[in-house]
Amino acid sequence: MPLVRTRGVILRSQRWGDADRIVTVYSHNLGKIRGVARGARRMKTRFGGVLEPFGLIDLTLFQKTAEALGQISQIDLVASYSSIREDLTVMTAAARMVRMVDAITVAHDPNPAMFAALVHGLEALSPEEDVALTTLLFQIHVLSHTGFRPQFDCCTECGKPAQHHRPQWFSPQLGGVVCQECVQRGMGRMLSLSKGSVAFIEQARRLALPHLSRLKAMGSVRMEVETAMEAYFQAIVGKSLPTFDQWIC
Ligand SMILES: [Zn+2]
Repeated sequence: MPLVRTRGVILRSQRWGDADRIVTVYSHNLGKIRGVARGARRMKTRFGGVLEPFGLIDLTLFQKTAEALGQISQIDLVASYSSIREDLTVMTAAARMVRMVDAITVAHDPNPAMFAALVHGLEALSPEEDVALTTLLFQIHVLSHTGFRPQFDCCTECGKPAQHHRPQWFSPQLGGVVCQECVQRGMGRMLSLSKGSVAFIEQARRLALPHLSRLKAMGSVRMEVETAMEAYFQAIVGKSLPTFDQWIC
């Protein structure tokens, strides 16, 4: 039975049976993996309190095969990000981050850039900052590292080059901009994106993680980009993320 050691972020920790937990982890070199922590819910457990979502951990698990549910033998906490739990808005932001990674990834498909973005995103959350903006930047940046990268260079329907000097129409279902001619033919729900909104999204995609927090968005740009990214996420995974005014545990 191969022994696996890896570093990852806990995405989910679910009760299983009377005493166990199933922990879903996004690992830097293995992608999304799951394992059973036997006896994790007993009073005396070797796992202590390290199975909570958002924690950065070093994990040891036994796996019969790559696809099989692993048996977690050890978890060492690297960073708990405990301050996340001290503020409801920050906790909602962290929940949006881990649920997004969980929703857009499949098991055993490593993506080191996504792992780096997740760790950076959790570390960047602070009640003193604009956490909704940090989360929005994270969403855009993470999508750019996946096959779900929104398309802004050309019309998603006919392929005609986008006219960046004009406002764009964004289709959440098609995952990109749609030219005026295709919009007039009726391509479903369309959201308007101003030049400023498109430029903001492009910058958030391209900027290196340490520089991401320099980006600011206010007023109509902020509203347009938030609406477009939320609708796009719902179109991709068929469900919504926790909202800042409605925390769902
Ligand atoms: Zn078109």
